[in-house]
Amino acid sequence: MGRLFNKYRAIVGDEAIGRIEEKASPFSEKHVVHVNSTYYGGGVAEILKSLVVLMNDIGVETGWRMLRGNPEFFEVTKRFHNGLQGEKIYLSERKKEIYVGESKLNSLFMHIQRHDFAVIHDPQPLPLINYYKKKGPWIWRCHIDITNPNRKIWNYLTQFIVKYDAMIVSEYRYKKKLPIPQHVIAPSIDPLDPKNMDMRDSDVAKYLRIGGIDLDKPLITQVSRFDKWKDPLGVIEVFNRVREKVDCKLLLLGNFAPDDPEGQGMYDEIMARKGDNKDILVINQTNRRLVNAVQRASAVVIQKSIKEGFGLTVSEALWKGTPVVGSMAGGIPLQIRDGVDGYLTSNKNECAKRVIELLNNRTLAKKMGESGKEWVRKNFLTTRHMEDYLDLFASLSKK
Ligand code: UDP
Repeated sequence: MGRLFNKYRAIVGDEAIGRIEEKASPFSEKHVVHVNSTYYGGGVAEILKSLVVLMNDIGVETGWRMLRGNPEFFEVTKRFHNGLQGEKIYLSERKKEIYVGESKLNSLFMHIQRHDFAVIHDPQPLPLINYYKKKGPWIWRCHIDITNPNRKIWNYLTQFIVKYDAMIVSEYRYKKKLPIPQHVIAPSIDPLDPKNMDMRDSDVAKYLRIGGIDLDKPLITQVSRFDKWKDPLGVIEVFNRVREKVDCKLLLLGNFAPDDPEGQGMYDEIMARKGDNKDILVINQTNRRLVNAVQRASAVVIQKSIKEGFGLTVSEALWKGTPVVGSMAGGIPLQIRDGVDGYLTSNKNECAKRVIELLNNRTLAKKMGESGKEWVRKNFLTTRHMEDYLDLFASLSKK
């Protein structure tokens, strides 16, 4: 029994713990490796940080490798990312050369040929498959909203994707016409991470103080990387509409990911739009406990993404009993049952209307937050995610 894993018993119950241990036992001699392109900033790194440790804890030897890329490479892969989310991109021969060239270089030192399962996350490391002889199945784990990708980029990337033995997406709607099996696995949050674990009120107050956040008015928050897809400027507009009816303040808590070169530009635009409005706070720092405190202290959390692979920040807020008003993008409707755990909205007016409703009806907000927490407990915790991976490994082993 993994000592760390055992701590989850109190949260998910004996039955789930026993089931996962049983499913892990056939893989105790196996080696798994995950590859992505950043150790911090963004949801993929968040997930792997807990998942990899817990898999090792229950006896499935699991490694985590990071793709090294130069700034030019990450410029190209962010374009690809944008293209997969539907943006027009110019796919030049130069971009392809940079993309494939960097993958080839990485393959020279990444050493993943001895693994029974290789899980490759997102488009950055996708071409690695060209440079290895597979020992076991290779799985491409796509975290992006690919409901409506730019055709050119999708067709280009397909040549790599079809070499994989399976693909994982976060949502049924992301499945594609492809000759390889596709599995739907929702991402997860770790309830025992400092970002999500229980926090005393005095600690919440302490971290708010550290962050310079005064709770003199109800707080509306969006926690997200500074990225246009998260629509922070739209959130400011929503806030301005809410502010006409209810006195409150807005917090945009964000960070930059090393594999996203567009972050600084977005941050500068937000600061310009904020101007000297003292009721809009923009915080740029990655402190897990501050995120925890803020998600607890907020009256309402917003996730107004335009495209969103999943959006861990939604589950994180619900787990703290805070209702979320989200957009309909990608994985958000999986996490919010409209009118139960918060609201799903399709434009700024609706979003503002629902935020106002929750600010004015604290009993309803509390009730929604509580149901959201149970919904997350059932569906979006790391333990469920581990079980899904183990089921997938079992099904791929049968072939
Ligand atoms: N995050 C953070 N600090 C910030 C902004 C975001 O720690 O200032 C975390 C957030 O709590 C979540 C992750 O980064 O765990 C973002 O994951 P999500 O799936 O919401 O979006 P992604 O960045 O992967 O698009």
